[in-house]
Amino acid sequence: MIIGIDDTDSKNGMCTTYLCAVLVDKLREYGEVSIPRLVRLNPCIPFKTRGNGAVSFEIKVIPEKEGKVKELVKSRVSELSELQDEETNPGVVFIGDTALRAMSRGGSDKRNEHISKLKNFYETAVRDVLKIEHAYTLLSELHFDYFGLKKKRGLIGALAAASFLLVQKREPAYYDYTYELIAYRRKERWGTSRVIEEKSVWNADEATYPLIWDTVDLANKKLVLAPHSPCPVLFGIRGDSVDAINKAYKLIQAEPAEREMLFVTNQGTDSHLITYEEAKGTLHDHHSYILDGVIKSNPQTIEGGHVLFALTLALAENTEGRIECMAYEPTKGFRDIIRQLRIGDEVTVYGSFKNRTINLEKIKLRKLNVEVKSNPKCAKCGKRMESAGRAQGYRCKRCKTYSSEKEVQIVDREIDEGLYEVPPVARRHISKPLIRTYVNGGINNIHPSR
Ligand code: ATP
Repeated sequence: MIIGIDDTDSKNGMCTTYLCAVLVDKLREYGEVSIPRLVRLNPCIPFKTRGNGAVSFEIKVIPEKEGKVKELVKSRVSELSELQDEETNPGVVFIGDTALRAMSRGGSDKRNEHISKLKNFYETAVRDVLKIEHAYTLLSELHFDYFGLKKKRGLIGALAAASFLLVQKREPAYYDYTYELIAYRRKERWGTSRVIEEKSVWNADEATYPLIWDTVDLANKKLVLAPHSPCPVLFGIRGDSVDAINKAYKLIQAEPAEREMLFVTNQGTDSHLITYEEAKGTLHDHHSYILDGVIKSNPQTIEGGHVLFALTLALAENTEGRIECMAYEPTKGFRDIIRQLRIGDEVTVYGSFKNRTINLEKIKLRKLNVEVKSNPKCAKCGKRMESAGRAQGYRCKRCKTYSSEKEVQIVDREIDEGLYEVPPVARRHISKPLIRTYVNGGINNIHPSR
């Protein structure tokens, strides 16, 4: 049976991953439990608590014990959820073996149709905005059992997380994935400041980077593995290799953990980004895009230290082609890259979209504009000529000389072409660190930030 869970926590406490860890440890009495999944859904959803995470796992349980397992999950979710918080609306989805068998009734075409609906639901939850009705419709069509409290909005995340696991189980390489080992605090320490020996984290990073990443931020001299909220998480180690994660975990000295749990996750995969072709020419708020364009205004630093430039999109005709791009203050040194750009640079921007503004997560400098055009100099007096009117060339009034073309100077740019990213302190959970592209044999022209 696959079980998906979401929306159990609040800003003041709990964490859905902790609830999952408690359940996984407990449910091992009832049958073999898989590595749980931690999926990050659309990072722009307004009602998320923090990182819009949901969880799922699979338990191999005999049919006679399914009911008992469900009861246990329901009671733990009811007991541990932050129900007093208005924004906490738990949801749990159960995909039992009977429901799985029913999905195959009608042959392989029917089964594939159902699987593709679940794929679509997960992908939509990561990139788009869903209504609770979408979850109810699919749950009822596929006869999945579920449980919810209050407004039950968590059913969206719970179904998405369960779908991710189901698809991965059938086709392990279908979705890119990484790992996170999360260590949890003993209950008596919740809400107090975390005891983590800083030097040991730097050592662990040095011993395992780039197989683990986003543990420290070198440029900003900060640890980024621990949250600052009163939740039960002590810290998390993220990476592509379980061995490297375990090695780092052994090296980190910290307060004693209550328990640890390893998750397979879509963190660090860029699954939230929609290409222009996929967007079919229309951009919507609360979605994240990859867009090609040409810089239309030189970057300027505005109040609050944010850096802003205008971009003309390389779009098909009849769409609104101009947007703003912003490197916000928390992106720190990334703003220095942006400040070096200028009108005419051809770039690809990556980030979430709201009020016609992209919140930059990454930028690819595809072709830097190395030309500076100015009015030509008069061959006689050496002064700059004036325009002779629209598309009519340039002239020197005094010497009566004429030139049809602007003068073009080639300038040195102090920045290289390639892909740049925000530093780990400002990275979204779901954003793919550039170092992963490099490790996995991708393009070379990248400038990882760490
Ligand atoms: P944490 O990361 O600490 O677990 P959170 O940021 O995941 O907290 P939740 O408390 O889970 O926040 O709240 C997010 C809510 O948004 C859930 O109810 C979830 O079902 C819902 N949700 C997630 N993705 C979407 C989406 N794409 N469209 C609509 N609702 C969504």
